[in-house]
Amino acid sequence: MKILIAASEAFPFCKTGGLGDVVGALAQVFSRAEGNEVVLFMPRYRNIGGGAFSLKAVGGSFLIPVGNSVETATMSHVQWGKVSVYFIENSKYFDRPGIYRANFGDYEDNDERFIFFSRAVLEGAKFIGFKPDVIHCHDWQTGLVSAYLKTLYRIDSFFSKTASVFTINNIAYQGMFPKETLLKAGFSWPDFTPDKLEFYGGLNYMKAGIMLSDLVTTVSPTYASEIQFRPEFGKGLEGVLRYRTADLFGILNGIDEEIWDPATDTFIERGYDVKSFLRGKAACKKALQHECALEESKDKILAGVVSRLDHQKGLDILFKALPEFMNKMQFVILGVGDPALTEAFAEMAKAHPRQIFFKAGFDEGFAHKIYAASDIFPMPSRFEPCGLSQMIAMRYGSLPVVTRTGGLKDTVNYTSEPKDSNGFAMDNAEETQLKSILGHAVSLFGWRENWNTMVRNAMKGDYSWTKSSQDYLKLFNIAYQKKQL
Ligand code: ADP
Repeated sequence: MKILIAASEAFPFCKTGGLGDVVGALAQVFSRAEGNEVVLFMPRYRNIGGGAFSLKAVGGSFLIPVGNSVETATMSHVQWGKVSVYFIENSKYFDRPGIYRANFGDYEDNDERFIFFSRAVLEGAKFIGFKPDVIHCHDWQTGLVSAYLKTLYRIDSFFSKTASVFTINNIAYQGMFPKETLLKAGFSWPDFTPDKLEFYGGLNYMKAGIMLSDLVTTVSPTYASEIQFRPEFGKGLEGVLRYRTADLFGILNGIDEEIWDPATDTFIERGYDVKSFLRGKAACKKALQHECALEESKDKILAGVVSRLDHQKGLDILFKALPEFMNKMQFVILGVGDPALTEAFAEMAKAHPRQIFFKAGFDEGFAHKIYAASDIFPMPSRFEPCGLSQMIAMRYGSLPVVTRTGGLKDTVNYTSEPKDSNGFAMDNAEETQLKSILGHAVSLFGWRENWNTMVRNAMKGDYSWTKSSQDYLKLFNIAYQKKQL
């Protein structure tokens, strides 16, 4: 099958969160399945290129209309294993310090940037002569690709057999723009209807992807249900999702088990597996305590956080619960995002330097050290489409402390029996529940046999992409067959 993946980020080229991990991992697993040819399209942001990958310019250029102007697209290419990666270039749109935003907020021309990218994906495919059986798009940034296929490119014979599958990685980010954006994108007013592009008088790229793709997926079964039936999860799109319910599937994400492997991880103090985690994790914990100038104690729970600092993640709730646990736990927090929370954590760490270490920023290597060194991994998310961090934490033997929502509910088991548990879970992201569950973790930490049973359960879990990638490929086939009718 010829698969074209269109996305705004993919690890290892660039990543702001789980979306990048998911796209990179899917591209690789699809390409390894027999009979597949995989091409990945993404924008070439300022920091892409150099390092381990030497990009080659693809000769020539093509033009993309955006509103009244015409923009030039060039491309560069790198072969990444069996995946052929094409980067769409345009310095006006992509040669900037950030991916979606600068310090002051989202880029004001994000509508144009992803009109340009989405259309350039289709023109780029034609340019290189790659006629996809299926185009797999991710999130609002590529929602217009499916919309183009069903409107402006409907009569383009190059794509007459191409099906589209749209994956919702996080419905909280929808790409909502005023109705004038319709014209910038080149659509016409007859397409500005509630069953296509119109959303409360404006254009919503996520809605466009949901309404106009052949099939829609999201990243966990529980989230698939939450976003259809509960407004606080669907964020205004629950009706749209229910309209497509027959074509909407929840497929749980996996993690890249080569990148996230405590046995071979070169960032961490000492490698370990499920048989040797006691000594391995102890060495990693001591090293991180030392690096962060925390008290080098074996007996205190070390709680690790690696996260975007966003309302979604509920870390403001953790912040409120922290003081109660200051004498019983240590915290190493790595996060980037909300300035108020950044300042609050930084101040608290300054006031308690032996108990709390906070690092503001995005740091891949430090993240690995935290997963390996920590005993627990709090993730009190208000909603969580899938969540990768809890799976990474479990693979590294750090017990996640989560809310029973979305993918957290689908991956973390917490019962009264340690033998059936691989972490801790509460029903709602609330301070009192979090305090109670953290209190339980503290007392269980004293019962090492039970604790270690849970760690072994966590480490032995299957977080691979094996089953999920097969599910995607089955859906691609269904979408393709449907398209041929
Ligand atoms: P989300 O996509 O909502 O940010 P996920 O749990 O799905 O959350 O994925 C988060 C991914 O991003 C994980 O690989 C995690 O390790 C990584 N990550 C998040 N914040 C940081 C950070 N500040 N530094 C390094 N890696 C981070």
